[in-house]
Amino acid sequence: MICYYYYDAPTYLFFAPDIPELLYYSHIPATILALLVGIFVFVNNPRNLLNKILLSIALSFSAITVINLVTWTSIESSAIIFSWSLFGPLQGIISVLSIYFIYVFLNKEDVSLKIKTVFSLLLLPTFLFAATNLNLSGFDLAWCDSFQYEGDFYSNYYNGLGFLAILWTSILLARKYKGATRELKKQILLMGVGIESFLLLFFTNFALGDYLATIKFVEDSRLELYGFFGMGIFMVMIGVLIVRFRTFNVGMIASQAILIALLILTISQYTFAESITSIVLTSITLLFTAIIGFILLRSVRKEIKQRTELEHLTQKLAHANEKLKELDKLKSEFVSIASHQLRSPLTAIRGYASLLTDGTYGKLPAKATEALERISESSKNMAYSIEDYLNVSRIESGNMKYNYSDFNLKDEAEKVTDDLRSQAIKQGLGLIFRTNLKSRGVVHADIGKTVQIIQNLINNSIKYTPKGSIKVLVRDDVVKKRIFIDIEDTGIGMNEKTLASIFGKFERASNANSVNTGGTGLGLFVAKMMAEAMGGGITAHSEGDGKGSRFTIELPLAM
Ligand code: ADP
Repeated sequence: MICYYYYDAPTYLFFAPDIPELLYYSHIPATILALLVGIFVFVNNPRNLLNKILLSIALSFSAITVINLVTWTSIESSAIIFSWSLFGPLQGIISVLSIYFIYVFLNKEDVSLKIKTVFSLLLLPTFLFAATNLNLSGFDLAWCDSFQYEGDFYSNYYNGLGFLAILWTSILLARKYKGATRELKKQILLMGVGIESFLLLFFTNFALGDYLATIKFVEDSRLELYGFFGMGIFMVMIGVLIVRFRTFNVGMIASQAILIALLILTISQYTFAESITSIVLTSITLLFTAIIGFILLRSVRKEIKQRTELEHLTQKLAHANEKLKELDKLKSEFVSIASHQLRSPLTAIRGYASLLTDGTYGKLPAKATEALERISESSKNMAYSIEDYLNVSRIESGNMKYNYSDFNLKDEAEKVTDDLRSQAIKQGLGLIFRTNLKSRGVVHADIGKTVQIIQNLINNSIKYTPKGSIKVLVRDDVVKKRIFIDIEDTGIGMNEKTLASIFGKFERASNANSVNTGGTGLGLFVAKMMAEAMGGGITAHSEGDGKGSRFTIELPLAM
């Protein structure tokens, strides 16, 4: 406080002629800044707990500013004693609120009742003993900084609360920092610098200022005035968090508040700008701050608008994606259920049709036998199609199971070829089987699926070859440990465009229908997927439309 032993008494409550210039400069801008940020953040989203706590910190800080100004400038003894006694409770409140603030900032939710009880218990003594001699027994106007009237225990307690807040918030921030994402780390760092600058400067300067004045190391407790600058740093960090990270969920309005605060900060320099030069310099600074601030505000507004639009779009996209996934799952389920239910009646149809053709129910007229053969043929094709659908849905849902064993691929390929020969001959086609093996031709794969793949490819060749022949060749490469089955035909062939697409789902060449109308376009897709899952693959070659095709199945040799 000011010693009126040396100085003139104040004209009004606050404005004494002889008090240090620093007093107004340190108190007023920081307080206005805190109040502006606090109020704007709060007004923008009053229900947000973090915003409420920030406003409470700003209000408590402002209250300390006012009482500090009163103790520094007033000569009204009742005003001084009242203000001085309030330091303890207010510093206590700021300490506890700061810890509360960091908890909510980091966890995005309120603290537990247990922690709230601890907060209340910590605060209680500062309130209980505020109006007693334990806090302040009196003061001595003649000796301005007469701290010997302050109770040691009480002042150590509330100063201790300040240091507890520093420790507590640092630990909370450091713990969260460890496991945080890069983006969150930046936010924690900004908040850490802000809150710790505020608390450290505030509490250290108050404690140190009082102590040094008490031991008469310095003339008065002027050092405490520097403590108020920390609030400025804190608020600037909050400002950066608001503008850069939208931490407090406030947009433009807070950026405007920060700009106004900056302008006020600059204007307040007029309070101690005595010479013309400093007035001119302050005016230039003010002009620059206003121009840069205005430009900044415009870019912030643009950025906020873009970000809001982007967030909106991202949300919509995520929603659409979710829906698509759901639909895809439903589709797979539907295909699987429908196919299963089609399979059983079809088996019955095929069974009875073959019983009828076999003559189990008596001899049938030739026309009826012909019709029955058509029924058998069509239902067989239908069964193949259903099997294809089921396989696609199994592949897509990841439910395709493979039973691995060692078997001779050459033998299996030969069997399949023999089985299909009668069908080929019926269509006037030759079907030849050849081998060129250096190994025994043993593979480690799923035998059922491998047979299905070979069947599928030879069947295709029969389907898409109007005349000529089909050659099946089993060969191997023992160095590369691979075995191949070439299925070569003299059929409709494929052009480059067809070659590029046939392994896709539901892909059929435009010339396919002219020879065969019964396909689904799924056979090759399923075959390739299965061959790949077993460590192999399928490739197709053709010189062009009408020039025949060659499909090659490849699998790893088991040696
Ligand atoms: P689907 O035979 O049921 O149409 P696939 O997936 O088995 O379905 O075959 C896809 C397409 O590849 C066929 O529609 C056809 O256009 C072409 N294709 C397959 N095998 C041959 C072949 N051996 N010769 C010419 N084209 C073929």
